[in-house]
Amino acid sequence: MPSLTDLSTIRALCAKYDFALSKGFGQNFIINPGVCPRIAEASGIGPGWGVLEIGPGIGVLTEQLCRRADKVVSVEVDKRLPPLLAETMAGFDNFKLVLQDVLKVDLRALLAEEFGDRPVAVCANLPYYITSPILMRLLEEKLPIRNITVMVQKEAAQRLCAAPGTREAGAISYAVAYYSTPKLLFTVQPGSFYPAPKVTSAVIRLDVHDTPPVTPPDGDEAGLFCLIRAAFSQRRKTAANAVSNGLSLPKAQVLQAMETAGLDVRLRPEQLTLEDYCTLQTALRRPVGNN
Ligand code: SAM
Repeated sequence: MPSLTDLSTIRALCAKYDFALSKGFGQNFIINPGVCPRIAEASGIGPGWGVLEIGPGIGVLTEQLCRRADKVVSVEVDKRLPPLLAETMAGFDNFKLVLQDVLKVDLRALLAEEFGDRPVAVCANLPYYITSPILMRLLEEKLPIRNITVMVQKEAAQRLCAAPGTREAGAISYAVAYYSTPKLLFTVQPGSFYPAPKVTSAVIRLDVHDTPPVTPPDGDEAGLFCLIRAAFSQRRKTAANAVSNGLSLPKAQVLQAMETAGLDVRLRPEQLTLEDYCTLQTALRRPVGNN
Protein backbone atom coordinates (compact mmCIF):
# COMPACT_ATOMS: atom_id res chain seq x y z
CA MET A 1 0.00 0.00 0.00
CA PRO A 2 1.57 3.35 -1.00
CA SER A 3 2.09 5.81 1.85
CA LEU A 4 -0.94 7.95 2.73
CA THR A 5 1.35 10.81 3.70
CA ASP A 6 2.62 10.99 0.13
CA LEU A 7 1.05 13.94 -1.72
CA SER A 8 1.03 12.21 -5.10
CA THR A 9 -0.78 9.21 -3.53
CA ILE A 10 -3.37 11.52 -1.94
CA ARG A 11 -3.92 13.38 -5.22
CA ALA A 12 -4.26 10.11 -7.16
CA LEU A 13 -6.80 8.76 -4.65
CA CYS A 14 -8.80 12.01 -4.75
CA ALA A 15 -8.79 11.96 -8.56
CA LYS A 16 -9.79 8.27 -8.72
CA TYR A 17 -12.81 8.83 -6.46
CA ASP A 18 -13.58 12.34 -7.68
CA PHE A 19 -13.06 13.62 -4.13
CA ALA A 20 -12.31 17.28 -3.34
CA LEU A 21 -11.32 18.11 0.24
CA SER A 22 -14.03 20.00 2.11
CA LYS A 23 -13.21 23.12 4.14
CA GLY A 24 -16.66 22.88 5.73
CA PHE A 25 -15.79 19.52 7.31
CA GLY A 26 -12.39 20.84 8.50
CA GLN A 27 -10.48 18.49 6.20
CA ASN A 28 -6.74 19.06 6.58
CA PHE A 29 -5.04 15.70 6.18
CA ILE A 30 -1.72 14.87 7.86
CA ILE A 31 1.15 14.52 5.37
CA ASN A 32 4.12 14.61 7.75
CA PRO A 33 5.05 10.90 8.08
CA GLY A 34 6.37 11.39 11.63
CA VAL A 35 3.14 12.78 13.12
CA CYS A 36 0.65 9.88 13.06
CA PRO A 37 2.98 7.28 14.63
CA ARG A 38 3.76 9.88 17.33
CA ILE A 39 0.06 10.47 18.08
CA ALA A 40 -0.66 6.72 18.17
CA GLU A 41 2.31 6.10 20.49
CA ALA A 42 1.33 8.98 22.77
CA SER A 43 -2.14 7.52 23.26
CA GLY A 44 -0.60 4.49 25.00
CA ILE A 45 -2.75 1.98 23.10
CA GLY A 46 -1.62 -1.58 22.46
CA PRO A 47 -2.94 -5.14 22.18
CA GLY A 48 -6.25 -5.48 24.04
CA TRP A 49 -7.29 -1.86 23.47
CA GLY A 50 -10.23 -0.44 21.55
CA VAL A 51 -9.86 2.91 19.82
CA LEU A 52 -12.57 5.37 18.86
CA GLU A 53 -11.31 7.64 16.09
CA ILE A 54 -13.18 10.77 15.04
CA GLY A 55 -12.83 11.77 11.40
CA PRO A 56 -10.55 9.21 9.70
CA GLY A 57 -10.36 11.17 6.43
CA ILE A 58 -8.50 8.85 4.05
CA GLY A 59 -7.11 6.79 6.95
CA VAL A 60 -3.60 8.11 7.55
CA LEU A 61 -3.89 8.03 11.36
CA THR A 62 -6.34 5.12 11.27
CA GLU A 63 -3.75 2.73 9.88
CA GLN A 64 -1.32 3.59 12.70
CA LEU A 65 -4.09 2.89 15.23
CA CYS A 66 -5.04 -0.42 13.56
CA ARG A 67 -1.41 -1.56 13.73
CA ARG A 68 -1.39 -1.12 17.51
CA ALA A 69 -4.88 -1.76 18.93
CA ASP A 70 -7.28 -4.74 18.89
CA LYS A 71 -10.03 -2.81 17.20
CA VAL A 72 -10.51 0.67 15.72
CA VAL A 73 -13.93 2.22 15.15
CA SER A 74 -13.85 5.46 13.16
CA VAL A 75 -16.80 7.84 13.03
CA GLU A 76 -16.86 9.91 9.83
CA VAL A 77 -19.53 12.36 8.66
CA ASP A 78 -18.47 12.76 5.01
CA LYS A 79 -20.56 10.37 2.89
CA ARG A 80 -18.03 10.56 0.03
CA LEU A 81 -15.23 8.90 2.05
CA PRO A 82 -16.31 5.21 2.45
CA PRO A 83 -15.08 4.09 -1.01
CA LEU A 84 -11.66 5.69 -0.42
CA LEU A 85 -11.40 4.12 3.04
CA ALA A 86 -12.45 0.74 1.65
CA GLU A 87 -9.36 0.91 -0.55
CA THR A 88 -6.87 2.40 1.93
CA MET A 89 -7.95 0.24 4.89
CA ALA A 90 -8.42 -3.00 2.91
CA GLY A 91 -5.42 -4.61 4.64
CA PHE A 92 -6.89 -4.26 8.15
CA ASP A 93 -9.60 -6.58 9.48
CA ASN A 94 -9.78 -4.73 12.84
CA PHE A 95 -11.20 -1.52 11.30
CA LYS A 96 -14.84 -0.48 11.29
CA LEU A 97 -16.30 2.67 9.76
CA VAL A 98 -19.40 4.32 11.25
CA LEU A 99 -20.80 6.88 8.83
CA GLN A 100 -22.37 9.42 11.19
CA ASP A 101 -21.95 12.84 12.77
CA VAL A 102 -19.95 12.32 15.98
CA LEU A 103 -22.11 14.92 17.73
CA LYS A 104 -25.26 12.90 17.01
CA VAL A 105 -24.20 9.27 17.32
CA ASP A 106 -25.11 7.37 20.52
CA LEU A 107 -21.54 6.98 21.77
CA ARG A 108 -22.40 5.02 24.92
CA ALA A 109 -24.21 2.35 22.92
CA LEU A 110 -21.51 2.34 20.24
CA LEU A 111 -18.67 1.85 22.75
CA ALA A 112 -20.54 -0.94 24.59
CA GLU A 113 -21.38 -2.74 21.36
CA GLU A 114 -17.99 -2.43 19.69
CA PHE A 115 -15.53 -2.68 22.57
CA GLY A 116 -17.28 -4.59 25.40
CA ASP A 117 -14.89 -4.71 28.38
CA ARG A 118 -11.77 -3.56 26.50
CA PRO A 119 -10.03 -0.39 27.70
CA VAL A 120 -10.93 2.40 25.26
CA ALA A 121 -8.94 5.39 24.03
CA VAL A 122 -10.09 8.20 21.75
CA CYS A 123 -7.58 9.26 19.16
CA ALA A 124 -8.06 11.84 16.41
CA ASN A 125 -6.93 14.74 14.32
CA LEU A 126 -10.10 16.64 15.17
CA PRO A 127 -12.14 18.82 12.81
CA TYR A 128 -11.19 22.14 14.48
CA TYR A 129 -14.56 23.84 13.95
CA ILE A 130 -16.14 21.52 16.56
CA THR A 131 -13.22 20.85 18.92
CA SER A 132 -14.98 22.03 22.10
CA PRO A 133 -18.38 20.39 21.51
CA ILE A 134 -16.69 17.06 20.74
CA LEU A 135 -14.41 17.13 23.78
CA MET A 136 -17.17 18.31 26.12
CA ARG A 137 -19.43 15.53 24.85
CA LEU A 138 -16.76 12.90 25.43
CA LEU A 139 -16.09 14.18 28.95
CA GLU A 140 -19.53 15.21 30.23
CA GLU A 141 -21.26 12.00 29.22
CA LYS A 142 -18.86 10.08 31.49
CA LEU A 143 -18.26 7.50 28.80
CA PRO A 144 -16.03 4.51 29.59
CA ILE A 145 -12.95 6.15 28.03
CA ARG A 146 -9.48 5.97 29.63
CA ASN A 147 -7.82 8.74 27.67
CA ILE A 148 -8.25 11.14 24.75
CA THR A 149 -5.29 12.01 22.51
CA VAL A 150 -6.18 14.60 19.89
CA MET A 151 -4.74 17.18 17.54
CA VAL A 152 -6.36 20.60 17.94
CA GLN A 153 -5.49 24.21 17.12
CA LYS A 154 -2.53 25.33 19.28
CA GLU A 155 -4.43 28.17 20.98
CA ALA A 156 -7.26 25.75 21.84
CA ALA A 157 -4.69 23.28 23.20
CA GLN A 158 -3.22 25.95 25.48
CA ARG A 159 -6.65 26.94 26.77
CA LEU A 160 -7.80 23.34 27.27
CA CYS A 161 -4.63 22.44 29.18
CA ALA A 162 -4.34 25.65 31.24
CA ALA A 163 -4.48 25.03 34.98
CA PRO A 164 -7.50 26.61 36.72
CA GLY A 165 -6.36 29.62 38.73
CA THR A 166 -3.86 30.76 36.08
CA ARG A 167 -4.04 33.66 33.60
CA GLU A 168 -4.38 31.35 30.57
CA ALA A 169 -7.45 29.55 31.98
CA GLY A 170 -10.94 29.94 30.52
CA ALA A 171 -14.23 28.34 31.56
CA ILE A 172 -13.39 25.26 29.47
CA SER A 173 -10.08 24.75 31.33
CA TYR A 174 -12.10 24.19 34.52
CA ALA A 175 -14.36 21.63 32.83
CA VAL A 176 -11.35 19.78 31.39
CA ALA A 177 -9.59 19.77 34.78
CA TYR A 178 -12.78 18.52 36.47
CA TYR A 179 -13.00 15.49 34.21
CA SER A 180 -9.36 14.78 33.37
CA THR A 181 -5.67 15.53 33.72
CA PRO A 182 -4.66 17.35 30.52
CA LYS A 183 -1.20 17.60 28.99
CA LEU A 184 0.02 19.47 25.90
CA LEU A 185 2.38 17.00 24.21
CA PHE A 186 3.82 18.64 21.09
CA THR A 187 3.08 21.23 18.42
CA VAL A 188 2.69 20.56 14.69
CA GLN A 189 3.43 23.15 11.99
CA PRO A 190 0.97 24.03 9.18
CA GLY A 191 3.25 22.40 6.55
CA SER A 192 2.50 18.99 8.09
CA PHE A 193 -1.02 19.10 6.59
CA TYR A 194 -2.65 19.07 3.17
CA PRO A 195 -3.90 21.65 2.57
CA ALA A 196 -1.82 23.67 5.07
CA PRO A 197 -4.08 25.43 7.59
CA LYS A 198 -3.39 29.03 8.61
CA VAL A 199 -2.77 28.03 12.22
CA THR A 200 -0.27 25.97 14.20
CA SER A 201 -1.64 22.78 15.76
CA ALA A 202 -0.87 20.83 18.91
CA VAL A 203 -1.49 17.34 20.23
CA ILE A 204 -2.94 17.03 23.71
CA ARG A 205 -3.71 14.06 25.90
CA LEU A 206 -6.47 14.01 28.51
CA ASP A 207 -6.30 11.22 31.10
CA VAL A 208 -9.88 10.82 32.24
CA HIS A 209 -10.43 10.78 36.03
CA ASP A 210 -12.25 7.89 37.72
CA THR A 211 -13.65 10.46 40.15
CA PRO A 212 -13.44 14.26 39.84
CA PRO A 213 -10.93 16.11 42.07
CA VAL A 214 -13.71 18.17 43.73
CA THR A 215 -17.33 17.46 44.70
CA PRO A 216 -19.94 20.15 43.99
CA PRO A 217 -22.72 20.49 46.61
CA ASP A 218 -25.32 17.70 46.10
CA GLY A 219 -23.26 16.57 43.10
CA ASP A 220 -24.70 19.50 41.12
CA GLU A 221 -22.15 19.57 38.28
CA ALA A 222 -24.46 21.55 35.99
CA GLY A 223 -24.75 24.25 38.67
CA LEU A 224 -20.98 24.36 39.13
CA PHE A 225 -20.33 24.85 35.42
CA CYS A 226 -23.16 27.37 35.17
CA LEU A 227 -21.43 29.39 37.91
CA ILE A 228 -18.03 29.14 36.21
CA ARG A 229 -19.46 30.13 32.82
CA ALA A 230 -21.20 33.12 34.42
CA ALA A 231 -17.91 34.22 36.03
CA PHE A 232 -16.06 33.98 32.70
CA SER A 233 -18.81 35.70 30.71
CA GLN A 234 -17.30 38.99 31.89
CA ARG A 235 -13.66 38.13 32.26
CA ARG A 236 -12.46 41.66 32.92
CA LYS A 237 -14.77 42.21 35.86
CA THR A 238 -14.31 40.77 39.31
CA ALA A 239 -15.70 37.24 39.70
CA ALA A 240 -18.31 38.63 42.12
CA ASN A 241 -19.60 41.22 39.63
CA ALA A 242 -19.62 38.76 36.74
CA VAL A 243 -21.48 36.10 38.76
CA SER A 244 -23.99 38.65 40.01
CA ASN A 245 -24.69 39.83 36.43
CA GLY A 246 -24.50 36.41 34.80
CA LEU A 247 -26.80 34.65 37.29
CA SER A 248 -29.01 37.70 37.99
CA LEU A 249 -28.25 37.54 41.72
CA PRO A 250 -28.14 40.58 44.02
CA LYS A 251 -24.57 41.84 44.27
CA ALA A 252 -24.77 41.85 48.09
CA GLN A 253 -25.67 38.14 48.11
CA VAL A 254 -22.68 37.25 45.93
CA LEU A 255 -20.30 39.40 47.98
CA GLN A 256 -21.53 37.77 51.17
CA ALA A 257 -21.10 34.31 49.64
CA MET A 258 -17.53 35.19 48.54
CA GLU A 259 -16.73 36.22 52.10
CA THR A 260 -18.33 33.08 53.55
CA ALA A 261 -16.23 31.04 51.12
CA GLY A 262 -13.11 32.83 52.37
CA LEU A 263 -12.47 34.45 48.97
CA ASP A 264 -11.17 37.97 48.38
CA VAL A 265 -14.05 39.86 46.72
CA ARG A 266 -11.57 41.55 44.33
CA LEU A 267 -10.54 38.27 42.68
CA ARG A 268 -10.97 37.93 38.91
CA PRO A 269 -12.65 34.83 37.44
CA GLU A 270 -9.39 33.14 36.42
CA GLN A 271 -7.87 33.62 39.89
CA LEU A 272 -10.31 31.18 41.50
CA THR A 273 -9.48 27.47 41.58
CA LEU A 274 -11.95 24.67 40.87
CA GLU A 275 -12.22 24.14 44.62
CA ASP A 276 -12.91 27.88 45.16
CA TYR A 277 -15.84 27.70 42.72
CA CYS A 278 -17.24 24.68 44.59
CA THR A 279 -16.97 26.52 47.91
CA LEU A 280 -18.61 29.60 46.37
CA GLN A 281 -21.39 27.42 44.90
CA THR A 282 -22.03 25.98 48.38
CA ALA A 283 -22.10 29.45 49.97
CA LEU A 284 -24.48 30.78 47.29
CA ARG A 285 -26.93 27.97 48.04
CA ARG A 286 -27.28 28.95 51.70
CA PRO A 287 -30.37 31.02 52.42
CA VAL A 288 -29.49 34.71 52.76
CA GLY A 289 -28.87 35.62 56.41
CA ASN A 290 -27.59 32.11 57.34
CA ASN A 291 -23.97 32.85 56.49
N1 SAM B 1 -7.75 11.80 10.31
C1 SAM B 1 -7.47 12.45 9.05
C2 SAM B 1 -6.07 13.01 9.07
O1 SAM B 1 -5.52 13.14 10.17
O2 SAM B 1 -5.51 13.31 8.02
C3 SAM B 1 -8.47 13.58 8.76
C4 SAM B 1 -8.55 14.66 9.83
S1 SAM B 1 -9.50 16.08 9.30
C5 SAM B 1 -8.71 17.33 10.26
C6 SAM B 1 -11.04 15.94 10.17
C7 SAM B 1 -11.94 14.78 9.76
O3 SAM B 1 -13.13 14.83 10.54
C8 SAM B 1 -12.37 14.79 8.31
O4 SAM B 1 -12.30 13.48 7.78
C9 SAM B 1 -13.83 15.24 8.37
O5 SAM B 1 -14.62 14.82 7.28
C10 SAM B 1 -14.27 14.64 9.69
N2 SAM B 1 -15.43 15.30 10.33
C11 SAM B 1 -15.79 16.61 10.27
N3 SAM B 1 -16.90 16.84 11.00
C12 SAM B 1 -17.26 15.65 11.54
C13 SAM B 1 -18.34 15.22 12.36
N4 SAM B 1 -19.28 16.09 12.79
N5 SAM B 1 -18.44 13.91 12.70
C14 SAM B 1 -17.49 13.03 12.26
N6 SAM B 1 -16.45 13.37 11.48
C15 SAM B 1 -16.33 14.65 11.12
